[in-house]
Amino acid sequence: MPLSGVKCTVSCCKYWKQGEQCDASAIQVNIDGGAAHARQSDQTNCHTFQSKSS
Ligand code: SF4
Repeated sequence: MPLSGVKCTVSCCKYWKQGEQCDASAIQVNIDGGAAHARQSDQTNCHTFQSKSS
């Protein structure tokens, strides 16, 4: 079952499914570089990501 309410465009992730869906059981989202504060959404990233090719 895809994660309800999660819309993802990272199609190179092994959890990604057609229709911008995420098929992981849960996701971890962190601030880039382990920083304590982010000001913009592009400073955060999904750390559940795993490459399809790994
Ligand atoms: S694990 Fe993260 S990067 Fe991968 S499909 Fe889900 S939300 Fe996207």
